[in-house]
Amino acid sequence: MRIVLLGAPGSGKGTQAQRLAERSGVPQISTGDLLRAAVARGTPLGLEAKAVMESGRLVDDALVLGMIRERLAEPDARAGFILDGFPRNLVQAAALDGLLAELGQPLDAVVQFEVADAELVRRISGRRTCADCGRVFNVLTSPPPSGTDADCPRTGAPHRLMQRADDNEATVAERLRVYAEKTRPLTEFYRKRGILRVIDATGEVDAVTQRLAASLAARPTAARVRKPAAKRARPRKAQRAAGRRGRAAEPSARRAKSARRKAPARVARKKSRSGPGPKRPGRRRTARRRARR
Ligand code: AMP
Repeated sequence: MRIVLLGAPGSGKGTQAQRLAERSGVPQISTGDLLRAAVARGTPLGLEAKAVMESGRLVDDALVLGMIRERLAEPDARAGFILDGFPRNLVQAAALDGLLAELGQPLDAVVQFEVADAELVRRISGRRTCADCGRVFNVLTSPPPSGTDADCPRTGAPHRLMQRADDNEATVAERLRVYAEKTRPLTEFYRKRGILRVIDATGEVDAVTQRLAASLAARPTAARVRKPAAKRARPRKAQRAAGRRGRAAEPSARRAKSARRKAPARVARKKSRSGPGPKRPGRRRTARRRARR
């Protein structure tokens, strides 16, 4: 399984990618998580990315592409991957195409998560992440479970819920703007490649999980851009039938004119085959003469 989850910040890609990764056994690769880890470790890449991330803009393509190239080369990604938050613009999408072509591992599907902007803002304001295991929760829509499932699988203690630095109102507005301008065009990019699926990502998390599974099992969303009717390929049989219908519908005057135009050519061919000489009687006249004798 090699898939990309596309959608605005807060559309639930991360939550669904985590669930899908657990079920399918292929890794979730989130460029946002990789960048946040680099920021937390204080690596040069992290230091460069930090301010950009906090402003809601996109980190430099070269940095992100280098990071993705390294991550896809790791052994666990050989069986497949779920890309979450990458690609984010057309440059990254084209680079991903090239990289996967090199690896001989083309994408199987791209799923676009659709959620209205007002709902995105509401979700982002309630989003919390466990600082230890990275699981995403939402204090408004999907709080951490209580009871035995409540503990963090890393520490065995309750999840330590943190709010991301960029999940604040001012940054969210900029992230949504950047998404509309840079990431939204990828929908058409993948639709034209015939691998796009679109799902309604509103409602219960379980319902979205089901819609995602159904969309991956279904055929891709049809390409919107269609060839003009005249150029569209038609099966041969249908083409012949259409041709017959077309001739039958031709007005008789036009049919007669086109017959006259074709006739001299036929005669010319006959003459050249029989060569010059006396005109030979037609078959019907010969038969009549024979009968008289
Ligand atoms: P995310 O966790 O996917 O919402 O990403 C958080 C922030 O990380 C984004 O607002 C960007 O600043 C940065 N980021 C994540 N993925 C990318 C990417 N593919 N290209 C550029 N910047 C990214």
